Amino acid sequence: MQDKSAALDLDVVIVGRGPVGATLANLLGLCGVRTLVLEREARTYHLPRAVHFDDECMRVFQTIGLADAILPHVILSPGMRFVDAEGRLILDWPRSKDLTPMGWHLSYRFHQPDLEEILIDGLRRWPQVEVRNCCDVFALDQDERGVRVRYENLTNGQQSELYAAFVVGCDGARSLVRRFIGSGMDDLGFHERWLVIDALLNHDRPDLGDYSIQHCDPRRPATYIRGTGNRRRWEITVHPDEDAQAVTQPAKVWDLLSRWISPGEAELERAAVYTFHSAIAKQWRNDRLLLAGDSAHQTPPFLGQGMCAGIRDAANLAWKLRDVVTGRADARLLDSYQRERSPHVREFIELAIRLGGVINTKAMEAGLAAGEARDNAPVKLDVRKPLLGPGLASGSLPLAGHLAPQFTLADGRRGDDRTGYANLLLLDKAAALSARVRAALVQAEIDVLTGEDAGEVSRWLAAHNVRAALIRPDRYVRGAARSEAELDLLIATACAPADVSTAA
Ligand SMILES: Cc1cc2nc3c(=O)[nH]c(=O)nc-3n(C[C@H](O)[C@H](O)[C@H](O)COP(=O)(O)OP(=O)(O)OC[C@H]3O[C@@H](n4cnc5c(N)ncnc54)[C@H](O)[C@@H]3O)c2cc1C
Repeated sequence: MQDKSAALDLDVVIVGRGPVGATLANLLGLCGVRTLVLEREARTYHLPRAVHFDDECMRVFQTIGLADAILPHVILSPGMRFVDAEGRLILDWPRSKDLTPMGWHLSYRFHQPDLEEILIDGLRRWPQVEVRNCCDVFALDQDERGVRVRYENLTNGQQSELYAAFVVGCDGARSLVRRFIGSGMDDLGFHERWLVIDALLNHDRPDLGDYSIQHCDPRRPATYIRGTGNRRRWEITVHPDEDAQAVTQPAKVWDLLSRWISPGEAELERAAVYTFHSAIAKQWRNDRLLLAGDSAHQTPPFLGQGMCAGIRDAANLAWKLRDVVTGRADARLLDSYQRERSPHVREFIELAIRLGGVINTKAMEAGLAAGEARDNAPVKLDVRKPLLGPGLASGSLPLAGHLAPQFTLADGRRGDDRTGYANLLLLDKAAALSARVRAALVQAEIDVLTGEDAGEVSRWLAAHNVRAALIRPDRYVRGAARSEAELDLLIATACAPADVSTAA
């Protein structure tokens, strides 16, 4: 039995070093939280998976200081087009080439193993973070002080254990941590087998195009995506009577690709059958055990939002864990995590299912209704980011749960680079604060950004008819103030520990 009086070995153990575990570990490293990542595999997962992430994710990568390292490995996506069996455009989802209010572009294409390498490499910067590969976690027992984590070193069969304040399961769709939490899944109803093919072009084929194309052909729905470099992705429906092994044989793969490309024009990098699921864990936390990423939710990939949702989980969770392990907040703060994140990810999954209904042509009308109908033109899609669910950000204060923009400072820097992963008060003029309030904000480590620092701050506040706004480390608005009284409330909220009194 673990001696309960023994000191905790660690603040947080992360099970799994996929993109979500690695991002969470970087954020916790930034916060100075003692973290161990235990990963079963020796190296990054090699099968083809995510190819797209969005501006909000890039902002998280900026926060952990890795955006510059990632930029050379991404290309911008011009958008996605849905065409019917005759090749007619039925739904257009263009992405602007301009920067969004996040300070980044709306849509990046990337190769998941490239990103994972950069995230893992980035962990070397944090002395409090350690990664142990080839370590399979098999048991978790929690008591009032911590969690006993038992794992096996797969290189020599040696079993070890350690004691941590919290364990976060970033251990993917078949999560062990979810089993120890005892959570079932809410099934959102979409389960389809798709063959995913990555091919490396031997020579340029500009005719394939830069847009992602959804071929909404009832005979064989398929997706084409331009990847980075010479990599091109096809995702093709597998019919119910087809054998998963048989469709991954090279001859069959080339047969399925024949309308786009022929052998000799490209090398097949990978062909694998995935079942795309849509599900959300019912319970993301059981006391000291938590879930993030695919362990908590799975979506069909049609919006390219599966990993993005996990990166958002990490950004939402890391500062709350920091506040709890440092004693700044009560552990019940962590209950706001699922309340905020679960409705947000549900909205994305439901939209992905609707678009799936267009692609597989089984629910065209309902799917097309997600976009804007136009006279003599295809339906146009413009995906709005959902709001956070009612958690810490909720309350009577306006703008709570919205993403705050990233402002460009007068000296040209991006605002987040100044603020870091911290709370931020947006104000028109610093003179609006008394010396006492200013001292309290400094004490509470809250950055203050005014219209004098960045002119856009004043314009944004005026556009929303508010005098000030409190932004959380994950860049979501905690609340805004219209009046003097609300400003007092906002500042009191900002300076008080982020505990459950405001999380209910
Ligand atoms: C074909 C396809 C296309 C996709 N396209 C996109 C896209 O364009 N955009 C997007 O955002 N998302 C996309 N996704 C989804 C995205 O790939 C996943 O959401 C993402 O990889 C999940 O990351 P994760 O870190 O939560 O889990 P994973 O990447 O699954 O990582 C889990 C890690 O946990 C480890 N692990 C598991 N159990 C244990 C244990 N007991 N002990 C130790 N380690 C353990 C595993 O070895 C693994 O390394 C796509 C997925 C697929 C299949």
